[in-house]
Amino acid sequence: MAKAQVSSDIVRLDQVKVSQYFGCNTFNERTMKERLSKDTYKAFKSALKKGERLPAEVAHAIANSMKDWAMEHGATHFTHWFLPMTGATAEKHDAFISWDEPGQVVERFSGSMLIQGEPDASSFPSGGLRATFEARGYTAWDPTSPAFLMEGPLGITLCIPTAFIGYHGEALDQKVPLMRSMDVVSKAAVTALAMLGTKSSSVVAQCGPEQEYFLVDADLAKQRPDLLFANRTLQGARPPKGQELEDHYFGSIKARVLGFMQETELECFKLGIPAKTRHNEVAPNQFEIAPIYEAANLASDHNQLLMEILKTTGERHNLAVLLHEKPFAGVNGSGKHVNWSLATDEGHNLLEPGHTPEENLQFLYFLAATLKGIHRHGGLMRATIAFAGNDHRLGANEAPPAIMSAFLGQQLNRVLDAIEAGEDIVSGARQSLGVANFMTIEKDATDRNRTSPFAFTGNKFEFRAVGSSQAIAMPLTVINAVVAEALNELNAQMEVELKSGKDVKAAVQAVVRAAVIETKAIRFEGNGYSEEWKQEAARRGLPHAKDTVEALKIWEDEKVQAVFTKSGIFTAEELEARTHIRHEQYQKALSIEAQVLREMAETQLLPSITADLGARASALVKVAAAGIEVPESLKSALQAQAHLAGVAQERIEELRKQLAIAESVESIHARTVAFGHQVRQAQDDLRDVLDTLEESCDADLWPVPKYREMLAPLS
Ligand code: ADP
Ligand code: MG
Repeated sequence: MAKAQVSSDIVRLDQVKVSQYFGCNTFNERTMKERLSKDTYKAFKSALKKGERLPAEVAHAIANSMKDWAMEHGATHFTHWFLPMTGATAEKHDAFISWDEPGQVVERFSGSMLIQGEPDASSFPSGGLRATFEARGYTAWDPTSPAFLMEGPLGITLCIPTAFIGYHGEALDQKVPLMRSMDVVSKAAVTALAMLGTKSSSVVAQCGPEQEYFLVDADLAKQRPDLLFANRTLQGARPPKGQELEDHYFGSIKARVLGFMQETELECFKLGIPAKTRHNEVAPNQFEIAPIYEAANLASDHNQLLMEILKTTGERHNLAVLLHEKPFAGVNGSGKHVNWSLATDEGHNLLEPGHTPEENLQFLYFLAATLKGIHRHGGLMRATIAFAGNDHRLGANEAPPAIMSAFLGQQLNRVLDAIEAGEDIVSGARQSLGVANFMTIEKDATDRNRTSPFAFTGNKFEFRAVGSSQAIAMPLTVINAVVAEALNELNAQMEVELKSGKDVKAAVQAVVRAAVIETKAIRFEGNGYSEEWKQEAARRGLPHAKDTVEALKIWEDEKVQAVFTKSGIFTAEELEARTHIRHEQYQKALSIEAQVLREMAETQLLPSITADLGARASALVKVAAAGIEVPESLKSALQAQAHLAGVAQERIEELRKQLAIAESVESIHARTVAFGHQVRQAQDDLRDVLDTLEESCDADLWPVPKYREMLAPLS
């Protein structure tokens, strides 16, 4: 029997313990500590802690050390890596070289190059923001996010995570607002803790984003212009019912997929991304990867990197990684569960039910603040996840509805009900509540309501309505902002209660009770997919923006503007720029889809359909010529197909017309409506008839891979 051959002459990274190479491609704190002088390292840590600017000589020393480290690892170039407002990532690479003497170069990288860069950023959408201020923007090093090495086919690039700011400090990216929101929520939480009797110098918003994605064999994906250009199928007859066997979920992972996952994780580990969990998802060829949670800004950088790693690793495995929210109609879509919590700088999770009554007072306080934030800003929560891709998923009977509600689980709900009823949450409760051990609230076993857009899952909230392709920076910024606002209000109420002579416990009781009563409308434990919930939510007065066209209006709401401008997370101009970009991106997505579908229909699908018609008609002529009677049913089937092909042609014309009309609309708001209503309707109508035609067309003539091929198990 042949023995498996193990090559012993190469060191395989995958045979080494993860802990031995985790973060090896990052210039992390450990590396800095090893390589920097004691004083430099101390100065760096102190500036970091205080959020101050680095002294020039410190920056220079770090830059030199970073360059040496990077070059020892083979880096030739560096780039400031940032998150423009579009949600993608951006890089512009520069070689380390500069002239030394005529004809001779030397590698150089200075402190100023580390700390500040001026990318030629004129092509990044700025929502008109830079025009209002100053044409240039610059990138500034974010020392809280370690620099890392990106491996290319021929050489390595040092990537320096940066913020992208305008000349007068205006945020031109997604990182700056996220960092501001983290500061704002930290301050509010520290004040709250102080009032509750806990000293803490800062509180960190933490996040663990669960990333869902589909894999399709790249040979198939390459044949579909819609997958290449719009990241989803714009046409495709539904697979036979039953293909969506639920046993794919948590089923065994096929070797080809496992190989892809393992390499993805290896790349993650090298970059210090704590990839933890991998599994199959509900739909065929749908999977998930989830990291261990980190500080929100790091989680955001890491999720952006992860999405890139997934794509590039996929290429090496001849797999197309689809991050779109709804790559296949009629098949479950993909989301990104954004798990969020707050923790003190000592790592104490403020959303973790405690072991003592005092700890639980604190827990209930932060829980109440979160509910209050979500209750007041359900519309904003909805708006932050509104974009073209998510429209196909939200409320589509398998993903959270477009109505914001919070799921807490039975036990916690009973606790809140008791608080509302005026039970003493500190002493009397244990006996009278009928809830075992009330003041040691335990992890609820009922935290599996997948239909809730915002669910409490034991010691964190899980924002499940976020789209799989979406950058998480903005959703996190929104959660931080609304919770900070609510905390500040609760803090103010606490002060009043305390001044009136109540002790801390009684004051918390009063404040939490008021918040529980006020926010009752968003607590919902039932089936979020159901029609009844839509009606019930309307009765409760909860906002329901059913699509992006509706949700985009929310950004103009005064209440929404105030939560950002009062806290300094966004200025009115910064917010306006982002709203502008949201409109532009929405229109662009719909425009691309419409163009791609039109072209596929006209140049690929209809020609095949008519070729099929022709072939069948000739076949029938031959049959008749052989003296065989051609049954009417065969003729009328062909007639019906010809008729439908004609309808398809008309709908192509209609789509072309609506697209031209929409493109010519002047006002940005009206243009969004034209795309979201007329263009989308025309596109849906065309798709409908093409899908029907696909079902009757000769499969051998069908010019693009079918759903059943793309969704077949990968092997
Ligand atoms: P689930 O029950 O949703 O599968 P897991 O415990 O597997 O929950 O966690 C899912 C994600 O939530 C992971 O990325 C995990 O790191 C993250 N997570 C766990 N605890 C927290 C927390 N306190 N704050 C933020 N994210 C968290
Ligand atoms: Mg989860």
